[in-house]
Amino acid sequence: MSNKSEYSEGDLRKTGMALKHDREWDYELDRIIEAVEERDAEKVGLQFPEGLKRRGPSVADDLRELLPDDVTILLSGQPCYGACDLDTYLMKRTDVFVHFGHSPMKNTDKVIYVPLFSNVDVFPIMEESLEELEVGDVGLVTTAQHMNRFEEMKEWLEDRGFTVHTRKGDDRLTHEGQVLGCNYASADIDADQVLYVGGGKFHPLGLAMEHPDKNVVIGDPVNNVVTVADTDKFLKQRYGAVHRAMDAEKWGVIFCTKIGQGRWEIAQDIIDENDDAYLITMDEVTPGRLRNFNMDAFVNTGCPRITTDDGPQFHKPMLTPGEYEIAIGNEPLDSLEFDTFHGTW
Ligand code: SF4
Repeated sequence: MSNKSEYSEGDLRKTGMALKHDREWDYELDRIIEAVEERDAEKVGLQFPEGLKRRGPSVADDLRELLPDDVTILLSGQPCYGACDLDTYLMKRTDVFVHFGHSPMKNTDKVIYVPLFSNVDVFPIMEESLEELEVGDVGLVTTAQHMNRFEEMKEWLEDRGFTVHTRKGDDRLTHEGQVLGCNYASADIDADQVLYVGGGKFHPLGLAMEHPDKNVVIGDPVNNVVTVADTDKFLKQRYGAVHRAMDAEKWGVIFCTKIGQGRWEIAQDIIDENDDAYLITMDEVTPGRLRNFNMDAFVNTGCPRITTDDGPQFHKPMLTPGEYEIAIGNEPLDSLEFDTFHGTW
């Protein structure tokens, strides 16, 4: 595991700026209009992830202009962080339902997925990432936003002498080389180094935790920075949470009701084995919603990122199912792993 955390020049993470790039997306309005005509639709539901919600009204305006007056457009106001998080209420009550910004977790006629790829140029940061890579075997992974450039990225590395290893993960992933914040199965490749091209620090951290034997190089084209994943700080935070939960008597076991975030068997196993564990069902898992439960600690069987990224904001320790097993003494401390999520629904 590498302890290096080197920041290249031009790191924009702390400047509040990001590399300027064309922010015009293709909302694939033609596809939506076609579906409305085919189904003689009266209601169209649009769901955007949090970062793109502000685009919703103008997309609705464009559709209103193009569609007959009797078609009503509904914008989902529910929080949305992934393809696992479809607004099923809106989906059931609209004739055409469009989910923007994510690739399909499960193909279904009920949802039109519009992926919205990033237009940022990934090659300057890949060039910079070469300093951290050794020519030879390398794994390549990226997020849904950059998937449209994946083949080009692969060729770019091959042109520079690399043997690029890629694979499609499990059912939860749509594309070859794609990773999610909860699934890094596409990095199970035969190479000691992996290049992750994409933004954010959490995806590559999960990747490095899942593959501690690999050197994970992060080329972030939006913040213009190359780093090598360092899991030490993350591990300290997780061990801290486990330690704080070791004396807990009453446990709240969260079962998430979002369509792609339910892990029922894991939640039920915990309840079956522990009389002091209580099943709590909810869609959004927030500190405010858990505050009034008189629990000593929580186990989250929903989105693993809530536990690991937002965990410190909760008033009581919040653990992943694997960490719970350590806290109650069923597993040794060194079995701590990143919580990953497989399959769909
Ligand atoms: S469960 Fe969490 S990390 Fe996984 S796809 Fe959904 S929002 Fe992303």
